[in-house]
Amino acid sequence: MLEDKNQERTSLSELGEFGLIDHLTKHFKIHHTSTVKGVGDDAAILNFSNEQVVVTTDLLIEGVHFDLSYVPLKHLGYKAVMVNLSDVYAMNAEATQITVSIAVSNRFPLEAIEELYAGIQTACNNYKVDLVGGDTTSSNVGLVISVTALGKAIPEEITKRSTAKAGDLLVVSGDVGAAYMGLQILEREKAVFKVNPSSQPDLEQYSYLIERQLKPEARKDVKSILQSLEVLPTSMIDVSDGLSSEILHICKNSGVGCNLYEDKIPLDPQVISSCEEFELDSTTIALSGGEDYELLFTIKQEDFPKIKANPNFSIIGHMTEEKEGAHLITRANTKIPLIARGWNALSSED
Ligand SMILES: [Mg+2]
Repeated sequence: MLEDKNQERTSLSELGEFGLIDHLTKHFKIHHTSTVKGVGDDAAILNFSNEQVVVTTDLLIEGVHFDLSYVPLKHLGYKAVMVNLSDVYAMNAEATQITVSIAVSNRFPLEAIEELYAGIQTACNNYKVDLVGGDTTSSNVGLVISVTALGKAIPEEITKRSTAKAGDLLVVSGDVGAAYMGLQILEREKAVFKVNPSSQPDLEQYSYLIERQLKPEARKDVKSILQSLEVLPTSMIDVSDGLSSEILHICKNSGVGCNLYEDKIPLDPQVISSCEEFELDSTTIALSGGEDYELLFTIKQEDFPKIKANPNFSIIGHMTEEKEGAHLITRANTKIPLIARGWNALSSED
């Protein structure tokens, strides 16, 4: 399906560790004055003056979080950065710097690692973040990538998970469920390819789903859109594990309940059609699929008029008193408890 067509193979040992870091990072640009010193000393030097700094980190392991038989290395590098920037944006902060560490087995030539870093560099340029450090080491098993992201915000702007109030409206950006369905398509094509390597899959009708899985975009734009609408969320989280588990995080951390309305959950038409094809319930996929990297947040009721007609956002429910619990109100108007089922739980059912 997606084979490595790169014929050149330069052994990583030819460069040595320091030569490799220098080789991989020399074309990265610095975008922020808060980066006083990036790569090239024992540690980076950062200066955030009076703003607060948010820090987040994520570890991606081959065979657990990604499958290189259908994930191009360039996309993997891009996605590894997005996953972290999404967590910074979920704090309503501006992402400013990242560090990237990789452990790599010697089955990867230099050209493969260059592809990975090309994706990281594209992400840094598109999202204006500075690569300021990292580490490379050898691995016996496969590829491991760890990205740490830093961001900044003035204290009044930072949005936590723990500050939603009963009566607040629950809002999500974009649409949900597509990344999970993209993974289903890719897994199916991989299985077909194993049986018939000459098959030429026509994936056009699934293009949005596959893009959401392989090349997600973190919602950098949400902070500025909300600022222009003069809306400050009362709490926020990013949708990495599926809508239901993220909602329950807000409920638990804020000490509130929630009513989520099934008919308000935003779904792309490709999610609906592919769910029909795979005989999956699209609401279950939206609730438990994960990897959407949209932002889920709560706003005060009085902000409803500012947000209701905005095409970037869907109002999907409201927060209640904690004792009322967290529920999904179905299209048939029945009330069922919301349960957290991450996508791992979902896939182990198959
Ligand atoms: Mg998160």
